Amino acid sequence: MKSRFKAVLISKDGNANKVEDVELTPADLMDGDVTVAVSHSTVNYKDGLVLRGNSPVVRRLPMIPGIDLAGTVEESSHPGFKPGDAVLLNGYGLSETHYGGYAELARVKGDWLVPLPKPFSAAQAMAIGTAGYTAMLAVLALEDAGVTPAKGAVVVTGAAGGVGSVAVAVLAKLGYRVIASTGRTQEEPYLKSLGAAEIIPRTELSGDPKPLAKERWAGAVDSVGSKTLANVLASTSYGGAVAACGLAGGMDLPASVAPFILRGVSLLGIDSVQMPMPRRRQAWERLARDLDAAKLDAMTRTIAFSDLRKAGEEILAGQIRGRVVVEIR
Ligand code: NDP
Repeated sequence: MKSRFKAVLISKDGNANKVEDVELTPADLMDGDVTVAVSHSTVNYKDGLVLRGNSPVVRRLPMIPGIDLAGTVEESSHPGFKPGDAVLLNGYGLSETHYGGYAELARVKGDWLVPLPKPFSAAQAMAIGTAGYTAMLAVLALEDAGVTPAKGAVVVTGAAGGVGSVAVAVLAKLGYRVIASTGRTQEEPYLKSLGAAEIIPRTELSGDPKPLAKERWAGAVDSVGSKTLANVLASTSYGGAVAACGLAGGMDLPASVAPFILRGVSLLGIDSVQMPMPRRRQAWERLARDLDAAKLDAMTRTIAFSDLRKAGEEILAGQIRGRVVVEIR
C-alpha cells in the first residue's frame, strides 16, 4: 500500500472552506473494513456542487469529495471482499459524511461495495457512475409501474447530461420510443446516435405549467425538476409514470394534483444514495445487459486528476455532454 497518496481535500479556512490537492497517509483515512486502491472516479452534478467548497452536501469537515469510486481491494477484513477484487461504490454518504473517491486510497465499509460487473472495466463503471446507475434505477421504477414500450413514448429531460444520456441509451435499447428534451438542440445528432427518436427543445417544457395538457408520453425520466417536471406530469398519458431523479432546473414543484387524480399518473421518487444493496446489484446487472458499450464510450470523456475542479464548474454550467471519467492513479 502507498505510504503517501494524493487526494482532494475540503477543509475550513476561516469563515470559508478551501479545496486543495494534498498528500495524505493511510492513517488519515476514516474507519472502514475495506481499503481500496482507487483507479477511477467521475464527476456528477453533485460533485460539481461539492467541488465549489461551499455545498450543503458536505456534512463534516475535512472531507474528500467524490461520490463514486472504482478500483481494487488492497486490504479487507470484510467476509465478502479480498485483496485483488475489483469493486465500485456509489453514494452511501461518500463526500457527505465519509471520505470519497477523489483520492488514490479509500477506506470504506465493505457493505457499501458492489463487485465490478463482468463486462465493465473500472473506467467504464465510472463512465456510468452515480448518474448512469440512477438512470437505471429510474428505468427499473418505470418498469415496476407498468410502463412498457407498447404503452407509448418515454420523455427524458436534461437528455444531454449524465443521467439523461444513459437513460436515452438504455430506454432505446429496451425498445421504447424516446423523446429527448434538451437545451442544447445542437446535440441532436449525439442524442439520435444514443437512440432518441425525437428531440424537443427544453423551452417546450419550461413555461408555466397547466394542470393538464395533451397526453404525449407514457413515462418520463426527469433530471430537471421545477416547472419542467410539472409540465412533464401534465402531459403524461392515462396510467403513466414519471421517475423524478434530479433538480438541475430547480428544487420546487409547481404542479397540480390533476395528473394524479384525473389520469392515475404516478410520480416515482428516485434516490441513489441510500438505495438498498439488492436493488443496486440489480441495477448494475441490468446496466451490464441493457447499456450498449459503444454508446457508453461515445458519451464519455476522460480527464486527469488535475482537471477535476474545472470539470466541476463545467457540469454546474450545464456544459458537460454525457459523462466524465477521472483517472485517479
Ligand atoms: P448533468 O449536469 O450531467 O445533467 C443535467 C442536465 O440537465 C444538463 O446537462 C442539462 O441538459 C439540463 N439542465 C441543466 N440546467 C438546466 C436548467 N436550468 N433547466 C433545465 N435543464 C437544465 O447532471 P447529472 O446528470 O449528473 O445529474 C442530473 C440531476 O440529477 C442533478 O440535479 C443531480 O443532482 C440529480 N441526481 C440525482 C440522483 C439521485 O439519487 N436522485 C443521482 C444522480 C443525479 P440539456 O443540456 O440536455 O438540457
